[in-house]
Amino acid sequence: MSAFRTLDDVDVKGKRVLLRVDLNVPMESGRVTDATRIERIAPTIAEIAGKGGKVVILAHFGRPKGPDPKDSLKPVAEETARILKRPVAFATECIGPVAETAVAEMKNGDVLCLENTRFHKGEEKNDPAFVEALAKLGDLWVNDAFSAAHRAHASTEGLGRKLPAYAGRTMQAELEALSKALEAPQRPVAAIVGGAKVSTKLELLGNLVAKVNVLMIGGGMANTFLLAQGKNVGKSLAERDLAGTAREILAKAKVANCEVVLPVDAIVAQKFEANAPSRSVSVDAVGPDDMILDIGPRSIEHAVSVLARIKTLVWNGPFGAFEMEPFDTGTIEVAEAAAERTAAGHLVSVAGGGDTVAALNAAGAADRFTYVSTAGGAFLEWMEGKALPGVEVLRVK
Ligand code: AMP
Repeated sequence: MSAFRTLDDVDVKGKRVLLRVDLNVPMESGRVTDATRIERIAPTIAEIAGKGGKVVILAHFGRPKGPDPKDSLKPVAEETARILKRPVAFATECIGPVAETAVAEMKNGDVLCLENTRFHKGEEKNDPAFVEALAKLGDLWVNDAFSAAHRAHASTEGLGRKLPAYAGRTMQAELEALSKALEAPQRPVAAIVGGAKVSTKLELLGNLVAKVNVLMIGGGMANTFLLAQGKNVGKSLAERDLAGTAREILAKAKVANCEVVLPVDAIVAQKFEANAPSRSVSVDAVGPDDMILDIGPRSIEHAVSVLARIKTLVWNGPFGAFEMEPFDTGTIEVAEAAAERTAAGHLVSVAGGGDTVAALNAAGAADRFTYVSTAGGAFLEWMEGKALPGVEVLRVK
């Protein structure tokens, strides 16, 4: 972990620590409905407060155009206090006299949550005056919001250039896991890329073929690759205009010596609904009215056999329309095999991005993966090989 500065590199006692976290939790009628994100950052808050630092929480919530009570962080701060089992004060502003007074009143070990940073336009613009106003409130900046690190906003990046900057424990765990998966992985390394469309994952596929030994493609996007190979995909979700791009990716993989694994059979149905009558067919025998909704048994077997010969797996996107039975079978069976090999110590498995967490949770496999990232966009940009601004500012120069 020497590449980034962490909480091991600083004495926080008596310091005002501006802690950027992800509190963008799902809420209904003013109540938090899923507190996973708060639970993930709780150890960092507890550690800084426990060491006598003053924890000043910075976060955004929603996409407000300006101050908007429905996007206030107040109820989230209350939920954070409940989870931390310690008081969390709240300031109705994140800059200016209200915030300054609230911070000035803090004692060592106190926790204060400031109002939504996106109530100010300067946040998303990374406006130097707004960065300055935030920086006045702290002696140092700790970034524990990997999920917001792909954005160069004032509280996610600007502060890191103004104040001494450190990774929080959640950020640190995420960076360590990601580095083990793609930057310095044990080989062979394989990637599973599934999900709906090729168009949203072009850069990701382009980056992966140059980095992994095996690329397994599933989901709706595999249909575009099957089309590119001249196969009939009937009424399946497929992007016909991207068949050429799919061929280019296959050619790039060949040059990079990356083995591409496409489905050899599929579960097809004529209706896109749960428990629609379905059958298993070879990818050479998809009928004109068929929709491919999952990979078939031979493809599952093949994917599982790949898992048996690799040491590292990185996974984004389901193999099929996993929200509907029985089209969740491919995702569940491959996820189970990956979870078992991970639990047995044969595999490092890292997964993340959008629906992937939901799919692995539904498969009951997430807990046995080495690391499951809850970050959506940031995880995808990392898989695309992009530098994340909120991570770059934490690098030891
Ligand atoms: P993504 O957000 O790109 O990871 O895509 C996830 C979505 O892809 C899920 O909602 C799946 O239901 C959908 N999906 C996966 N495979 C298929 C398929 N063969 N046909 C239609 N949708 C699919």
